[in-house]
Amino acid sequence: MVDQALVEGVFITSQSNKEKERGEMIIELIEKGLQKERDNRNKKRESHYPSDISACKRQLYYKWTDEPVSNPVTAGGMLKMKMGTAIHDIVPNLLELAGLESVPEIAVKKSTSYLKYPISGRIDNLFIIPGTDSLGVIEVKTSYGAGVKALQKTGKPRESDANQLLTYLWLEPTLAKGILIYIGRDNGYRTEFEVDRDNDKVGCIIVNKLKDLERRVFLRSALQGYTDDQLPDREYSVAIKNGEIKDKYQKDKVVYKSMWNCEYCSYESICWKEIVEKSKGKMFYGEREVGPWKR
Ligand code: SF4
Repeated sequence: MVDQALVEGVFITSQSNKEKERGEMIIELIEKGLQKERDNRNKKRESHYPSDISACKRQLYYKWTDEPVSNPVTAGGMLKMKMGTAIHDIVPNLLELAGLESVPEIAVKKSTSYLKYPISGRIDNLFIIPGTDSLGVIEVKTSYGAGVKALQKTGKPRESDANQLLTYLWLEPTLAKGILIYIGRDNGYRTEFEVDRDNDKVGCIIVNKLKDLERRVFLRSALQGYTDDQLPDREYSVAIKNGEIKDKYQKDKVVYKSMWNCEYCSYESICWKEIVEKSKGKMFYGEREVGPWKR
């Protein structure tokens, strides 16, 4: 019998009442574990992470200012993220089997005169570039297979993903190059891109995103009366219909689809509150009104 105290506070359960009646306690414990992981993710910030380079500035602002989350990640959402991480972890094993020489992950921390806080994190999936004694880094991203195919057609990786890899190259000067691999979670479709060092670009992002973020966070704590007008701009869009955020809707033969970045964001409701209120009887895409709403 599982101790009831262990399963108290389960954040969002996917179980139906019938399943609960059947006593499926292991699923409840899985969700308890996911809740603990989620809580660890919400630790107070004391440094920037390499992935912040490609994150929404407004979302980072909410994190740094300890804004209470309005949309906690659900158990299902956490599991989906972990599936992506699992694929990320499988790739080095396969590469090692194929004879690529891997190198243990490294901790990185770098300060710059632009920032009060350092950028720190860990870089894994390191390998010796065949035929050389130089190090390379692989970043694995997962998506729907259709999204992977679309990227392959454009011949370019998603800019936010490339920026994250550029940040690794900036953080660790001994890395000679980065490889970005996309894998379709639903069909295993895959494609890859090479990313070359571009420290000037990383410098620009640091100034435009992280330095500006630190300035806003500082003003918020130093100035009474700092208002939401000074929030960073939203970087992504959602489809809003008559006071509700939708996955997607169609208007005048155009499909408006919420971006996954917002759908997975723990601050979605608070971020879009004012537009959602304004949208009663109307349809919006992001901050843009696209027309009246008709039932
Ligand atoms: S909901 Fe979207 S725009 Fe708003 S903070 Fe989150 S990611 Fe950024």
